[in-house]
Amino acid sequence: MLCDDCGKNPATIKFTQIVNNKKTVLHLCRDCAEKRGLKEAISNVSFSLGDLFAGMTKEKSDKVEGEKAEILCPGCGHSFAEFQKIGKLGCGICYETFSSQLKDLLRRIHGSNQHVGKSPPQLTPKMELKREVRKLREDLRKAIESEEFEKAAELRDRIRELNKGS
Ligand SMILES: [Zn+2]
Ligand SMILES: [Zn+2]
Repeated sequence: MLCDDCGKNPATIKFTQIVNNKKTVLHLCRDCAEKRGLKEAISNVSFSLGDLFAGMTKEKSDKVEGEKAEILCPGCGHSFAEFQKIGKLGCGICYETFSSQLKDLLRRIHGSNQHVGKSPPQLTPKMELKREVRKLREDLRKAIESEEFEKAAELRDRIRELNKGS
């Protein structure tokens, strides 16, 4: 899906705005979203997507007015809401795109995330780290292929932790 504004870049953000019960949906690339001054919405969304998502599934009261920015997978153009509807990820990149939401989803399914804090020591040398990440990415790819989402979520988290430390 291409950006509604420039029509050139792939849309990576779905921005929904509800004003007076009228819903406007925009599919934008990051650049155009920023140009429209939606930068704040985007950065908010990346910090609180888990909350946002939890709120969405909890069937919020009837207060629908508001703005919502959803991240779209750059691979297949699906949003996480669409993934939920279909029950299946659109492509391998989805996993990277929606890792935090998936983690949240799995956590709520299982009541807790048993693998919190299983990150490797910070002192791991960089080379070592890169190799580890590469290996984890490979495992992640396999987990996605076999649709082992829970395993994939763990792997994704570990990759993230490792990247943070580098
Ligand atoms: Zn654009
Ligand atoms: Zn995708």
